[in-house]
Amino acid sequence: MQQKKTKNEERIAGGPCLDCGMEHSLSAGDARSHCRQLMQFLENEQRIDLLASPGQADPRLSTASLFGKSRGKMFGIMVCRAADGSERILRAFSGQYNGLWELPGWSPPLFDVGTFTRIYVDIEPRIKQLGRELELAEHGSSQWRDLTQRRRQISRQWMQEIHALYLLHNFRGQQRLLSDVFGGSGGIPTGTGDCCAPKLLNQAVKEKLIPLGLAEFYWGRENASQTRQHSRFHPSCASKCVPILGFMLCGLEAVTKQHGIL
Ligand SMILES: [Zn+2]
Ligand SMILES: [Zn+2]
Repeated sequence: MQQKKTKNEERIAGGPCLDCGMEHSLSAGDARSHCRQLMQFLENEQRIDLLASPGQADPRLSTASLFGKSRGKMFGIMVCRAADGSERILRAFSGQYNGLWELPGWSPPLFDVGTFTRIYVDIEPRIKQLGRELELAEHGSSQWRDLTQRRRQISRQWMQEIHALYLLHNFRGQQRLLSDVFGGSGGIPTGTGDCCAPKLLNQAVKEKLIPLGLAEFYWGRENASQTRQHSRFHPSCASKCVPILGFMLCGLEAVTKQHGIL
């Protein structure tokens, strides 16, 4: 699936936009050279707390876990132009980092972390409890079927509540819920909206920055399906990002043209 093209013009992120019927995309620009600098930092410092001095380093932000059982992670950089013409670099990691959603120097998630945590704290123990009861129930018995169904219902309700927290922004000034944007069939995959590209785009819109380029790379032990390898660049994922990036990039061409950027 990996494209052979290595030029900066290669499409890095994008997807179909259900609003205007166009395909919107973003290329790498010079984001890859900034990624290489970040890789150098990760290599030398073995941590992701960019703003802390080595003495203040938070052990939770060490990169050691990326090479262990929980495997590696995607990191992304977006090069942007600010209103005053200066260059701004945004950075993101996919998902959470050792249980942390928000870290200084990194783009935040697409939802309010406090609300997310309240829902999690409420539902997670109920699912765990059902899991424990399931282990004790005889497989295939009516009690087992009942517990399985209840757990499925609660999980579905949880996912719906979580997806309703994700607010996607675009360059036309629109904002929309993840569930209203997602065009894929068969439900929204877990983790949609948690990749680097949507985090970076959301932050760019909120801070009125114009994205010029984007690149994402994988850092750590290769993933279970061996599709991602240490220090390799990867385009945005097809299952979670392509269905939402069209909406998120809508309006960027017009903004770019308006500012005379080619
Ligand atoms: Zn993705
Ligand atoms: Zn559009």
